[in-house]
Amino acid sequence: MTHYALLIDGQLHATEHADEVLDPATEQTVGYAARASHAQVDAAVDAAQRAFAGWAADPQARRTALALAASVLRENTQPLAELISREQGRPLRFTLGEVAGAAATFDHYAGFEAPAPEVLRDDEQRQVRLERRPLGVVAAITPWNVPIILLVLKLAPALHAGNTLVAKPSEHTPLSTLLLGQLLKDVFPAGVLNIVAGDGAVGEHLSHHPLVRHITFTGSVATGKRLYAGASHDLKRVTLELGGNDAALVLADADVPAIAEALFWGAFWNSGQVCFAIKRLYVHRSLFEPLVAALVARAQHTRLGSGLDPQTELGPLTNRQQLERVKALVADARDQGAVVHTGGAQPDRPGYFFAPTIISGVGAGVALVDEEQFGPVLPVIAFDDVEDAIRQANASPFGLGASVWTQDIDQGAAIVRRLDAGLAWVNQHLDVHPGAPKGGYKWSGLGYEGGARGYDAFSDLQVINIARH
Ligand code: ADP
Repeated sequence: MTHYALLIDGQLHATEHADEVLDPATEQTVGYAARASHAQVDAAVDAAQRAFAGWAADPQARRTALALAASVLRENTQPLAELISREQGRPLRFTLGEVAGAAATFDHYAGFEAPAPEVLRDDEQRQVRLERRPLGVVAAITPWNVPIILLVLKLAPALHAGNTLVAKPSEHTPLSTLLLGQLLKDVFPAGVLNIVAGDGAVGEHLSHHPLVRHITFTGSVATGKRLYAGASHDLKRVTLELGGNDAALVLADADVPAIAEALFWGAFWNSGQVCFAIKRLYVHRSLFEPLVAALVARAQHTRLGSGLDPQTELGPLTNRQQLERVKALVADARDQGAVVHTGGAQPDRPGYFFAPTIISGVGAGVALVDEEQFGPVLPVIAFDDVEDAIRQANASPFGLGASVWTQDIDQGAAIVRRLDAGLAWVNQHLDVHPGAPKGGYKWSGLGYEGGARGYDAFSDLQVINIARH
């Protein structure tokens, strides 16, 4: 059985302890992930600190290395995608897309020119310039739902800006990130990219290290708040991409047969394990029955299975805890009078599968509606008045994404502007424009990832004021 090693200072490191990683579709072992000791985390941060000055000094070498990273990923797309499918559960066609997206992200930054310094004043007395300086060592802590692209979206701009990095993947899906480290071992100079694995305690140790200047995190609200509090002691910079409870509003004029498929995938892609998936569906009462019927029909002919089976449309939940959480939310909704139109149960097979589930008869006050379910269960809620739907959509501590579905695009855009969401869609959900910053309102995050705003997070500004006399 394969053991996957840490990457520290350009070397692969086996460890005293290793954690078994299961395939959520079969509950069989996929491999073992090296578990970093605190000393190994410290060694990784020290290596990153040592590598920093040289790396920061040579922007052309950085772009060349990022271009090489893209080609290494492209050459290894198949094994990396298969490993994501095996440890995370998602069908291969989607994990192939994830790796292709990661390679495209490296390519994008390989060709990206950092914004030029701004000259704020230039005359006989003074030159005043605004320049960017990299921060130093960045810690990237990532979740289990889309492990490679979520890391590369941090890694590529952080390294491009001249920082060095220590990454820590989730303990539920560490293997693909450790394989990425193995593949990129000789692409970057020793110490520029380091990968340590382990649980939250390893992440906490990394995030508290005094040499870490910025923590870029994607994960749960609870852990994000804890990281933010921990970072305050040292005034470390943080970027937090947290959970969501995205509402989709279907207006009375929507064309149900035309939108049902997109709504289904907006809610169920990756078995609902997406921070900005549709998690609450508000539907005008006149369309409630046909839309529920269309979603039920789609859910019932969905092929569940292993990510490696080409027939599979939806894989399992990624880990047992998540399956248990989804089961508990559905049981609680039933207790509170929910109607389960389809699904609602774990199929009789090995693995952490849960049948795609459409539920109605619940609203605010029920955990399935108020919280982030992160699973293949969609509550559908009828509304009479769109103002009421807007109010319900915004009555949430989350503010990641939201969408409005209508044949009247102008009205859709007007309504979506009133929803509290950093990502606002009309007649679609999930599409993320590569150049656009991604960030959530309220509890869904702090700061931005991607785009110019995201890039800025990996530098500090320096005002250089030169007296000419
Ligand atoms: P999830 O519920 O998605 O597993 P978490 O927010 O717990 O979400 O996990 C996201 C990432 O944060 C994982 O890599 C996990 O190991 C890490 N993590 C968990 N607890 C902490 C912590 N206290 N400090 C730093 N990282 C942590």
